[in-house]
Amino acid sequence: MSQLPLRAQLASALGRTAATLSRATGRGDGSVIGGRVGLMLEPDLLRKLAADRKLVLVSATNGKTTTTRLITSALQELGEVATNAFGANMPAGHVSALASAKDAPYGVLEVDEKYLPEVLDTTQAGIVCLMNLSRDQMDRAGEIWQLAQKWRRALSGKPAHVIANCDDPLVTWGASTAAQVTWVAAGQRWREDSWCCPECGGPLDRSASGAAWACRECPFRRPEPSWVLDGEDVIDPRGARWRLDIQLPGEANRSNAAMALAVTEAFWLDPARALPRLRMVTSVAGRYTMVERDGRALRLLLAKNPAGWLEAFDVADPALPIILSVNAQGPDGRDTSWLWDVDYRVLAGRPVLVAGERRLDLALRLAVAGVPFQVCDSFQQAMALVPPGRADVIANYTAFQQIRAEFGRAI
Ligand SMILES: [Zn+2]
Repeated sequence: MSQLPLRAQLASALGRTAATLSRATGRGDGSVIGGRVGLMLEPDLLRKLAADRKLVLVSATNGKTTTTRLITSALQELGEVATNAFGANMPAGHVSALASAKDAPYGVLEVDEKYLPEVLDTTQAGIVCLMNLSRDQMDRAGEIWQLAQKWRRALSGKPAHVIANCDDPLVTWGASTAAQVTWVAAGQRWREDSWCCPECGGPLDRSASGAAWACRECPFRRPEPSWVLDGEDVIDPRGARWRLDIQLPGEANRSNAAMALAVTEAFWLDPARALPRLRMVTSVAGRYTMVERDGRALRLLLAKNPAGWLEAFDVADPALPIILSVNAQGPDGRDTSWLWDVDYRVLAGRPVLVAGERRLDLALRLAVAGVPFQVCDSFQQAMALVPPGRADVIANYTAFQQIRAEFGRAI
């Protein structure tokens, strides 16, 4: 790639130094502070670092870290890939990711939904991957509709090729102003935020299979997909069927893999070459990791919002005990009223242990759902109450980080 201007080189180098210092002093992985320092010195740094690279931006409410990882793994087949592997998904994190792989011809960046317009404007990325939009913590349907509206404005008139999940009506609406869209029928488990047509507010009807949807009052309907996720398989635009066989568990990850295959084909990488690389990914930033202690093997699942809880339920083994841990710190959102949006009845029949700062809120929710449970003062106590053997853990953001810190940062 072409040489950065001197000022940008300096900003980028100082940013990397700040990141190293931050890591050395134990203040995290350094990707945010390094990027912030770089941006302070050169506000135009992200644009400069992005120039001359083939970039993918990945955005969604759920699954963006995992999908970023899957796409990165596949594109490594073609060459070096810069990526924000640790979920630092705002511009400072993007600066840090690109600065730490200066010569990588490819970049895959996870982007916070709200930052997508700004990051697309700045980086002029050629590919944008959009997967799902649902309420997250304090958000409600109206706010995510506004977010999709911002995506529409940002994509309109841009040359970017968008790869979007057409099973999600709001994503479809958000993507449909783009000049070029490849539609992927990647599934939609959480539907509570898509009863209404984003275009006119009319009711959305679903086909008998539940896959297709159409507005009853205006022409807005699901576009014809080029790629289709069908159970364990993905069907490509030529009609060829590919068994996914990825190691990451659950339907949500098969959906992420389908999106990743459609994205990598935009780089002329066919599924025969991309799939083996998707299968190499076993865990993402600690998610799905098994941790072991005192004869217990716990599998860690992260769930940050109602849709994420449904995905985690899909992965959790009904035959095993399950520990639920919910906190309400800044990154989690202090309001945990979203607990009432989740149907916990699926947990009935297995031992359920409840921990975390908001264990009493969660306990009340489970009591109303008729799910027997036991409240624990701490995660350690919950673990001690699980019989030796395997168990699942579902935790929201800071609860998950605390558990990872306790067991060491398995990646
Ligand atoms: Zn409509």
